[in-house]
Amino acid sequence: ELYLDYNGSTPVHPEVLDTFTAFVAGSYGNTAAAHHEGRRARRILDTAKAEIALAIGAKPEEIWITSGGTESNNWALTGIARQYGRGGHLITTAVEHRSVLKSAEFLVEDGWSVSYLQVDEQGRIDPGQLDHLFQANTCLVSVMLANNETGTIQPVAEVAHFCRARRIPFHVDAVAALGKMPIDVNDIPCDLLSLSAHKMYAPKGTGILYVREGLPIQPLIQGCGQQAGWRGGTVNVEGVVALAKSFALMKAGIYGSKEHIEDLREQMIDGLRRLAPDLRINGNAPRLANTISVTFPGRRAMDLLQALNGHGVSVSSGSAATNAAPSHVLTAMGFSEEQARSTLRLTLGAFSTREGIDRILEAFATVLQKVAVQDPV
Ligand code: PMP
Repeated sequence: ELYLDYNGSTPVHPEVLDTFTAFVAGSYGNTAAAHHEGRRARRILDTAKAEIALAIGAKPEEIWITSGGTESNNWALTGIARQYGRGGHLITTAVEHRSVLKSAEFLVEDGWSVSYLQVDEQGRIDPGQLDHLFQANTCLVSVMLANNETGTIQPVAEVAHFCRARRIPFHVDAVAALGKMPIDVNDIPCDLLSLSAHKMYAPKGTGILYVREGLPIQPLIQGCGQQAGWRGGTVNVEGVVALAKSFALMKAGIYGSKEHIEDLREQMIDGLRRLAPDLRINGNAPRLANTISVTFPGRRAMDLLQALNGHGVSVSSGSAATNAAPSHVLTAMGFSEEQARSTLRLTLGAFSTREGIDRILEAFATVLQKVAVQDPV
């Protein structure tokens, strides 16, 4: 209830956990094995994959199992670049998750070149910039669906149309959007799309890379020919089964409506404004309803985070993995380092309640008095 870091990770839903543990207890075959336990695991895997495919408008053969969003993003970028050969050019954005940005830097070391779409103060790219960045050797465009720090939703359909017209593969990191907005590969006509189960009430360690049928891509993980040789390693069947169950719960409306989350968001923001009238809410719609990026001028986000933690309230400063450095997302939006270091990310989810937010606001009331406004240096 006092948890405000749903973009960092989510609690596993009890029904997802039941599905997961039932599988672990009852099935242990390796999907690559020829015996009946292997066949059984394969059948279960195929059913779960088909359910996941259906949920995102894909075909089962287009769903590949990975270890998470990071691997899916690494695979999409390096797999397409290697397929193209040396000397290719990627276009991505300045506000991607590190798993995309670091893969891009790795490719540069290996002879590829990369251009970055810049963002406005709301964190949005201008697809019109693509014309200027496009080159004859552009072999991939990668743009996230929603930003994990600000919730900003990117105009990916426009990017997709640009790429389609020029026959360039288009990758979408949809990890932060999962469970928070519809994701359908027909609405976003992309060629590759990354998902991660732990962002939607399923256990950590399972990711998906959607690869449009017919698109050639080199493997990232080499192994014993599992998943048709596209991704080596014993398949994490229980993780996939759990994710399929989570998609079913989402479809059934178990995780709550967007309107409910929006009401909670307004309650949170109204309460905070009363406590700190000088705060700034970052990023305009369209954005994820659950994500609040809020700057408290002159206060250090890390001090606020730690003081809130003392009250049992879990918030994030920027993305979970980069608490030490000022957020590259916020600095790309034109924030000074100081402003970026004064920004908290509060993210809501299926188990957030009005009563919980009242208690969180009480904690904020105490903390905002204790954590003094710093003199500007
Ligand atoms: N992309 C985005 C937008 C994310 O928010 C995250 C998770 N923080 C990832 C990729 C990485 O996913 P995972 O944690 O499953 O490796």
